[in-house]
Amino acid sequence: MTNLLKGKAGLVTAAGSGIGRASAVALANAGAKVMVSDISEEGGQETVNIIKENGGEAQFFKCDVSDEEQVKALVDETVTVFGKLDFAHNNAGINAGQVKIGEMDANDWDKTMKINLYGTFYSVKHQVNAMLQSGGGSIVNTASGAGLEGSPNMTPYTASKHGIVGLTKSVALEYGKQNIRINAIAPGATITPAIEGWAKNHPEQYNGVLESLPAGEMSTPEDQGNVVMFLCSDLARQISGVTIPVDGGYTAGK
Ligand code: NAD
Repeated sequence: MTNLLKGKAGLVTAAGSGIGRASAVALANAGAKVMVSDISEEGGQETVNIIKENGGEAQFFKCDVSDEEQVKALVDETVTVFGKLDFAHNNAGINAGQVKIGEMDANDWDKTMKINLYGTFYSVKHQVNAMLQSGGGSIVNTASGAGLEGSPNMTPYTASKHGIVGLTKSVALEYGKQNIRINAIAPGATITPAIEGWAKNHPEQYNGVLESLPAGEMSTPEDQGNVVMFLCSDLARQISGVTIPVDGGYTAGK
């Protein structure tokens, strides 16, 4: 526990697993009150339990970020319960339609855009309006290394994450004078439960990926969560509109 975010309150989407869970835990460990949100009630409640076991304060609110009404309800509930919205981590993202664009099913394109890009738009829209009521705040979006470079066979994911990088830049210019900062993280390969399962079943491919990484290892969800926590804190008061690669140096070689 630190006191870096003592007195602050905010929300994390897709906080029932992986990076979102680690971010919610890091924010709570820094003293913040956290509204843990996810489409999965089970995963979200587990995150709340972890935070409470650590001595932190958290509640769960179910929200599918592809539905604007649910996103607005999440922001409203956070303000009702905690009195304000100081920070938000918009983390929900999927990677549907892993084929070349000539074989792409438009439904997979739509589904990816709806969660990744529209979900971020709905979230930022309602968060900014809540933050304007209480003197500002800090928003962090989860982009990806695929938001900074091309990635074959995942065009909708790549396009949506590039969109998040652009949205982040524009909104930083729109609300800087109102004391709202907005940034994104671009995680590189991060060892979440899904990737851990894949690594066990494909040890040779996994070792090949490790070889390609400058640090020789994937990042952990905690590595990502710590950067989110920093960006939400006043230590980052001069950082806005940027996308920070959290990838052990991978992007430096691109
Ligand atoms: P994860 O699979 O561990 O967790 C994803 C969570 O999102 C789950 O709890 C799931 O229930 C929730 N979710 C799915 N659809 C949702 C929706 N419509 N609304 C709300 N919640 C929803 O995933 P992760 O690997 O931690 O990924 C989190 C974010 O990080 C994503 O945006 C992903 O694109 C990004 N990312 C991950 C990596 C990586 O290597 N893991 C790399 C780059 C970027």
